[in-house]
Amino acid sequence: MTDTDTVLLDCTEVSHTYGSGRAAVVAVHGVTAQLTSRCRVALTGPSGSGKSTLLHMMAGLETATSGSLTWPAWGASPLGFPGRVGLIFQGPSLLPALTATENVAFPLLLTGMSDRHATGKAAQVLDLLGLGELGGQLPETLSGGQAQRVAIARVLACEPELILADEPTGQLDHHAAFGVVDVLLRAGTELGAALVISTHDPLIAARLPERWTMTDGRLHQPGGTVAAAAALS
Ligand code: ADP
Ligand code: MG
Repeated sequence: MTDTDTVLLDCTEVSHTYGSGRAAVVAVHGVTAQLTSRCRVALTGPSGSGKSTLLHMMAGLETATSGSLTWPAWGASPLGFPGRVGLIFQGPSLLPALTATENVAFPLLLTGMSDRHATGKAAQVLDLLGLGELGGQLPETLSGGQAQRVAIARVLACEPELILADEPTGQLDHHAAFGVVDVLLRAGTELGAALVISTHDPLIAARLPERWTMTDGRLHQPGGTVAAAAALS
């Protein structure tokens, strides 16, 4: 972290348990971490290690069952403010009745942007992701990888300060996956946004200067946030 970095998110001893009693599953256990503006973090770990749950809590979508999460830069949960945190979901998340362009434009309309501007912005970001030709198509006519890239476009169009991408390359072949990571890294730089990408792929993780790992709900941060800031400066 440098003098000019600000703390976007502060997690202190954060845990999340699904269910209760004998059915309880501790998905995230005692995570203490900070995300600073401009950080570039790869979050790796086996399936079921708690990555999605942690990212959902970081976005304010899921509450911690113990510990605290604060968003010092914004003073409150970023939920409901598309320009703060953009979460790219691991699973399908497009609205099935809307075209690709309408899906990307939708959160912009919610911020009060005019239809014309929102549609123009959506087309521009879809182009950036190589999807310019597909804007008029419904999600059911897209491949898994195309739908995932539309979901990425929907997040980038809102120009968030923190991008949380939950296995955004899971449905893509290696070449396409690298292309998507390039787009996310470039968008992060252009927007001045912080970026967290969860991934199973060590080659994708290697593209980011800071690598965190989860095992059984616990977070391991070799080098911590200071190392990443130093790598970027
Ligand atoms: P990852 O993203 O690393 O695969 P998850 O955060 O999805 O990990 O899951 C962590 C643990 O929490 C797993 O054991 C998973 O089965 C469990 N889990 C995730 N979501 C739910 C849920 N909605 N209800 C109950 N258990 C869940
Ligand atoms: Mg997951």
